[in-house]
Amino acid sequence: MFDFSYSEDQLAVKKLVRKFVDKEIMPNIEKWDEDQHFENSIIDKLADLGLMGVCIPEQYGGQGMDYITLAIVCSELERGDTAFRTLVSVHTALNSMTLLQWGNEFQKEKYLKPQAQGKKVGAFGLTEPNAGSDVGAIQTRAIKDGDSYILNGSKTWISLCGVADHFLIFAKTSPDQGHRGISCFIVERTYPGVTTRGFKNKLGIRAGNTGEVFLEDVRVPAENLVGEEGEGFKIAMSALDNGRFSVAAGAVGLIDACIEASVKYAHERETFGKSIGKHQMVQQMIAKMVAGYEASKLLVYRVGWMKNKGIRNTRETSLAKWFACDAAFNAAVDAVQIHGANGYSHEFPVERYMRNAKALVIYEGTREIHQVMQAEYALGYRKDKELRKNLPAWPFEEAKKLV
Ligand SMILES: Cc1cc2nc3c(=O)[nH]c(=O)nc-3n(C[C@H](O)[C@H](O)[C@H](O)COP(=O)(O)OP(=O)(O)OC[C@H]3O[C@@H](n4cnc5c(N)ncnc54)[C@H](O)[C@@H]3O)c2cc1C
Repeated sequence: MFDFSYSEDQLAVKKLVRKFVDKEIMPNIEKWDEDQHFENSIIDKLADLGLMGVCIPEQYGGQGMDYITLAIVCSELERGDTAFRTLVSVHTALNSMTLLQWGNEFQKEKYLKPQAQGKKVGAFGLTEPNAGSDVGAIQTRAIKDGDSYILNGSKTWISLCGVADHFLIFAKTSPDQGHRGISCFIVERTYPGVTTRGFKNKLGIRAGNTGEVFLEDVRVPAENLVGEEGEGFKIAMSALDNGRFSVAAGAVGLIDACIEASVKYAHERETFGKSIGKHQMVQQMIAKMVAGYEASKLLVYRVGWMKNKGIRNTRETSLAKWFACDAAFNAAVDAVQIHGANGYSHEFPVERYMRNAKALVIYEGTREIHQVMQAEYALGYRKDKELRKNLPAWPFEEAKKLV
């Protein structure tokens, strides 16, 4: 009934990304983090390896691999740094997989294909200055004008805002209808009226690219409406089913990095005549990391398996995201503790892990939002309704034959 082994393809990708991270990211990441520099060339290198569209069907420019492979890519990238896992989370999981699920053939051909090939970068614009967890409170407006919509508003905390070519922008088409009045649009950076501004001095993910998107009388062709008018909230939530999965997978990689650094340091550092790894309280911190790592991995892979089978996974994804991100944050805090004062210094990577890990428990549903969701499912207050469009099951060819 259960198969816990990697397939040959999954193992090959795992090795490939690990090698890539060790060669391209590890030697440079401290400097990029210090300089608050997003290294653009990583996008092209990931594209060359086929990693910008790893779980997008080949017919749309991707590699056609399964959803567990996406999780593997995210875990391995985050072992290097959260910034590059965020790149894949936003570009592939939040944007491209949303186009795969909800886009029409025209949109898949024009936008998904170049994104999956890594020729264009996609981002996801939901959050606004006055609306984060409370998505229904967004104020960006889209008004129909002939065969276009005119968009006005602003988005904040948008990952890749400075590098994305295409944004999925959520805007109100019927402001009096709360979350039922939200629609989703593909907005190109080059459309007149689109401007962006990057943030500096974030707590963490300093090698990442985050900032604001401003929309001033932006004329968006009606053919760029994703799904139907008023379907934006459902589209955003199913995008988050994919984004959260990738964040949870990244958290697994962050715990892996914490274990790696902590075990190394515990062997090297001596107090009271023995290596600190011999002290039980240090062992306890490492044991908790190991437990968090293994349990998170199982939760994440279960979601990957459900996605492969085409089973709705909002509840399981939320649990994996909450649990794995909490475990990653706790592991990073303990990794700093194991390093003592050295953990408090830029000379060791664990302070970066701790700063980065804080974002994981904030974005794509805060820790509290996921706790509320889990309680509501358990109490019977929340039930998932059928969606009009679903993410294709994997293998894609078999899924296609079934249609
Ligand atoms: C590094 C980074 C990158 C990001 N990238 C993107 C991106 O690419 N695209 C995008 O759209 N957004 C992005 N975000 C935004 C992110 O998704 C939001 O910050 C997040 O959803 C929380 O919203 P908020 O910051 O407005 O907090 P709020 O919603 O204002 O919440 C504030 C506090 O109140 C708590 N709270 C709120 N409501 C409840 C409730 N009902 N019950 C219990 N507690 C509650 C929260 O848990 C939190 O502790 C990013 C954020 C960060 C930090």
